[in-house]
Amino acid sequence: MSIGLAIENLHAGYGPATVLEDVSLTVNAGDIVAIVGANGAGKSTLLNTIAGLVPASSGRMRFGDTDIAATRADALPRKGLVLVPEGGRLFPFMTVRENLEVGGFSRRKSADFSTWLDEVMDLFPILRERQGQLAGSLSGGERQMCAIARAVMSQPDLIMLDEPSVGLSPKLAHEVLGLVQTLRDTKDVTVILVEQNVGEALAVSDQAHVLDHGRIVRSGPAAELADDPAIQKAYMGL
Ligand code: ATP
Repeated sequence: MSIGLAIENLHAGYGPATVLEDVSLTVNAGDIVAIVGANGAGKSTLLNTIAGLVPASSGRMRFGDTDIAATRADALPRKGLVLVPEGGRLFPFMTVRENLEVGGFSRRKSADFSTWLDEVMDLFPILRERQGQLAGSLSGGERQMCAIARAVMSQPDLIMLDEPSVGLSPKLAHEVLGLVQTLRDTKDVTVILVEQNVGEALAVSDQAHVLDHGRIVRSGPAAELADDPAIQKAYMGL
């Protein structure tokens, strides 16, 4: 079973500018948890702070037994926590397979490399077809899948996805978010999903938090938030 995340009274920002104000949330192992909110609400800052890329000015962050704030960013993947940044940041001049191999360097469990690569490609069959192609030549949807697959190659317990559906057609966005659900169901990973595509994100998530000007203003079961007229009006254009 994968392990959960607990964040308490987190403050973080850039220099003197505070972005996150007193953020507290827990993510239960095995859940998909959506973080939604308007542009500039602080969603990416939250993921980047958890990933150790933005320093916390105060508060506590614990992932299983690991005190995240006391752990270097580059050590977190080996503790089971990985971030897929917005846009994926693939290595464009490496092939799809090479990108996946890079992800596999920090593999945490003893599974044989080629067996694990095969399993990951089973989940993303398009990547098997495209494995010899340069990552920079992939379409938007394929690129996003490759970025997620590269993170899965490290055998994470918790994967944080920053806007995986951005720039994709509604059909592809639906497909990518469906894959996130399959990933959780088959690979026993916990997922934090930052999305502007609020309706789709809530549809695949168990729990959700709404971030507004750096504060969590609403938390609850995703289905409950999806049915709430105030959320529908503010974030789903209904
Ligand atoms: P978006 O959906 O537009 O990415 P977001 O909810 O992810 O929005 P953030 O990217 O976390 O929001 O931005 C929150 C605030 O922090 C914004 O006011 C933004 O301008 C500011 N910010 C983000 N990155 C930096 C940075 N590197 N330096 C200074 N300010 C930043």
